[in-house]
Amino acid sequence: MKSYLLPQFTVERDASRCSVCRACIKECSFGVHYYDEKRRTMGTHEERCVGCHRCSTFCPTRALTIRTHPAKFRPNANWRPECILDIRKQAETGGIVLAGMGCDKPYRIYWDHLLLNASQVTNPSIDPLREPMELRTHLGARPDRLAVADEPGAPDAPLTPQVSVEVPILLAAMSFGAISAQAQRALMQAAQEAGTLCNTGEGGWPAELRGFGRHVIVQCASGRFGVDADYLNEAAIVEIKIGQGAKPGIGGHLPGEKVTEAVARTRMIPPGTDALSPAPQHDIYSIEDLSMLIYALKEATNYEKPVAVKIAAVHNAAAIASGIVRAGADIVVLDGFRGGTGAAPKIIRDNVGIPIELALASVDARLRVEGIRHRASIIASGGFRNSADVLKAIALGADAVYVGTAALIAMGCTLCQQCYTGKCAWGIAASDPKLAERLDPNVAARRVVNLINGWSLEIKEMLGGMGINAIESLRGNRLHLRGIGLEDWELEVLGVRGAGT
Ligand code: SF4
Ligand code: SF4
Repeated sequence: MKSYLLPQFTVERDASRCSVCRACIKECSFGVHYYDEKRRTMGTHEERCVGCHRCSTFCPTRALTIRTHPAKFRPNANWRPECILDIRKQAETGGIVLAGMGCDKPYRIYWDHLLLNASQVTNPSIDPLREPMELRTHLGARPDRLAVADEPGAPDAPLTPQVSVEVPILLAAMSFGAISAQAQRALMQAAQEAGTLCNTGEGGWPAELRGFGRHVIVQCASGRFGVDADYLNEAAIVEIKIGQGAKPGIGGHLPGEKVTEAVARTRMIPPGTDALSPAPQHDIYSIEDLSMLIYALKEATNYEKPVAVKIAAVHNAAAIASGIVRAGADIVVLDGFRGGTGAAPKIIRDNVGIPIELALASVDARLRVEGIRHRASIIASGGFRNSADVLKAIALGADAVYVGTAALIAMGCTLCQQCYTGKCAWGIAASDPKLAERLDPNVAARRVVNLINGWSLEIKEMLGGMGINAIESLRGNRLHLRGIGLEDWELEVLGVRGAGT
C-alpha cells in the first residue's frame, strides 16, 4: 500500500560543507541517510526523519540542518494537521497510534501563571552565599505524638521510618527495558552523587545496579516484574504503582522484541515474551485491598521502609489520596499528564487526566482539612521543567518532586517522542545494545548531577529572596504564591490569591 504520510521534517545538507564522511549514516538509527554509489553523493529518506537531531549534532562539518517540513495542509481549525496525520497512520496500520513522552497539547501550564514572592524591608531576604540554606527533605509519615519511655534505659516507642534526601528533587520511575541499562545506571549514579533517590520503574532492578540500594526506590506494579524479598529489602523506599500520569487507567506493554536476555532476567520472565502489566493490580479492588498490600510490603521489609503509592492525577485525586493515606501509605505520589512515558496510546496520553498543579493543590488541601497531612509526604511528578516549577510545587504542598523528562534531556534526549520504537539515537530509550552503548553512563550521570546542582543553587537563591532558609518552611505556604491570568475557579482550586491582592 502506498503511504500517504508526508515527511514531518526536511533534511538540508549543505553540499559545500559535506565531506561525505558518512558519519550521519552511522549515527541515524532511523535509516534516513544513505550513500548513492552511482552518483557518489549522499542522499536522504526524508520521510523517515523523526527530528532527533543526532546527525546534525555529530556532523563534523555542521553540514546538516533539520527543519519542520514546510508542506502544509489547507488551514482548518477543526481538521488540524495532527488529526489528518493520525487518521492516515491508522488507515495504513489499523492500530493504535503510539507516542512517547508526556502530553504535548497546549493545555494551561499553571506553573507559568504562578508567581513567587520576595522579601522587601521587613523579614529581609537571606544571602545564600553567606548563610546556611537547608534543602534536606524527609520523606515518610510524621508522628503526631511522641511516646517516651517512662523508665530510664527502656526504648522509646519507634518512630515511623523516614528517608532523607539532600535536595527535594528525585529521579522518576523509568524501567529497564523502556530505558537502556546505561541510562538506568547513569540515573542511579547521579542519585547517589547528588544525595537523592532514583526510581527503578516497574521493570525490576538489574543485579549489577544493586549497589545503589540506599538511593533507590523500587516499584511494585501490576506486573510484579522482578519483585522478590531481596528487591524490596535492598531499596530505600517501596512504591506501589497504581497509575501513571501519561496513561491513567491503562496498563503497560513491552513488546517481546524488546525483552532481551538481560531485560528478561531482570523482569523474571522468559526472553522474547511480551511483558504485559495489567491495567489494574488484580489484588486491589478497594482501599481495604490496597491497605493489605501496603501492610504486606511493610511486613516484608520489617516495617523499616516507607511505602509509597503512586496514582495518576485524575478528577477525584483528592478523595483517592485521602483513602491512600488512611490505608497506611507513608508517601503519596501524584503523576500529572505531562509526565513522560516510554510508550502510551496517543489518544489517552493527550485526553485523560488533569494537570499536576490542580491535583497537587487539591490533594494537599484535602489532607489538611482532614487533619491527616502529616501522615504522608506528597511527591509531585509530571513535566517539571526548571527550579521555579519545583519551588512552586513545594509552595503548593509537595514535599518533593520527581524529575524524569528533564533528567533525560540533560543526558541528551531531544524529545523526538520515538521512545516506543526502541531506536533512540541517543542510546537512552534504546533496546538495541549497540545503540545503548552510545550513552556513557559516567558522562550522562555527570550531566544529571550538574542539572540537580544548578537547580539547587537557584532554589537557594529564590528561597533566600523570600527570607526563608529551609525548604521545609515553604511547604504548602501558598501565601508565597500569587496567580496571574487565571479565572476565579482556578485560583480557588489552587488556593492562591490573584497578583496584586
Ligand atoms: S555527517 Fe555531515 S559531513 Fe558527514 S556525510 Fe553526513 S552531512 Fe556530510
Ligand atoms: S529518549 Fe530518545 S527516543 Fe525518547 S524522546 Fe528522548 S531522544 Fe527521543
